Amino acid sequence: MPVRGSCLCGDFRFEIEPPFEMLASCHCSMCRRAHGAAFATYLVVGAGALRRTGEARSVLRYDSSPGAHRSSCARCGSVVPYEAPDGRHWYVPAGLLDDDPGIRPQAHIFADSKAPWHEISDALPRFEGYPPGMGEAFAAKRTTEPSLGRVRGGCLCGAVAYEIDAPIEGPLVCCHCSRCRKARGAAHASNLFTGTSSFRWLRGEERLRAYRVPEALRFTHVFCGVCGSSLPRVDPERGRTVVPAGTLEDDPGIREGLHIFVGSKAPWFEIVDHLPRHDSYPPGAFPPPETR
Ligand SMILES: [Zn+2]
Ligand SMILES: [Zn+2]
Ligand SMILES: [Zn+2]
Repeated sequence: MPVRGSCLCGDFRFEIEPPFEMLASCHCSMCRRAHGAAFATYLVVGAGALRRTGEARSVLRYDSSPGAHRSSCARCGSVVPYEAPDGRHWYVPAGLLDDDPGIRPQAHIFADSKAPWHEISDALPRFEGYPPGMGEAFAAKRTTEPSLGRVRGGCLCGAVAYEIDAPIEGPLVCCHCSRCRKARGAAHASNLFTGTSSFRWLRGEERLRAYRVPEALRFTHVFCGVCGSSLPRVDPERGRTVVPAGTLEDDPGIREGLHIFVGSKAPWFEIVDHLPRHDSYPPGAFPPPETR
């Protein structure tokens, strides 16, 4: 049985044929930026195992390093499957899968580059870079200098950057809802919430694109029109900004502190840490689900 997948807006659809070669979570700074997530979990499939279904729509292609590129849906900003530099594989963001692929995560790669605000809690093997024989290490360059009392962040290509006044109130919220999984192409989103007055764009605001899920009241994915990275969403109506923590450059001081919407979590992802879990929103802390 083929396993189906699609981006947040549904324009980019695909089927992949098992058996799959590998499922691994990458903590490198490029994946964290591109997905705006704590880590990106990729399914590695052979070149002939992926088939696009539905209409071919426009894809944002960003050349992330020599010989390597990443792709995102130009309409909704989900990271979509892209060819590996070796031309023999596809890298499929597992957050896009609509069916259970059967396979479970096997390793953490670039574990030494992990975000300071995320703990790896499971017992899977951890590699400093790629597992032996799989590829070359590369890292995203810093685009801004740290400054006291500010937490900075931005997209993978550097076109968009922002800063937040510290200290930031926590915790970081891990959301497992299907919209967050698709928007980030990851196991879950890790979001920081801050007031709109302590958030500022430093550059590239004109590059922002936004996709609002039509059947949702608010759920909007903001992303860079050049590289497709998830970016903060400023919500003046509520006076708050939702920041995808994967786009942070500096340590925000706060840590992941709870899981929400675990009732919708990906079948291939197991939560093994001891943080509080809520089926949807925690009682009283957030607006009710129908306003989402
Ligand atoms: Zn899309
Ligand atoms: Zn990576
Ligand atoms: Zn960008």
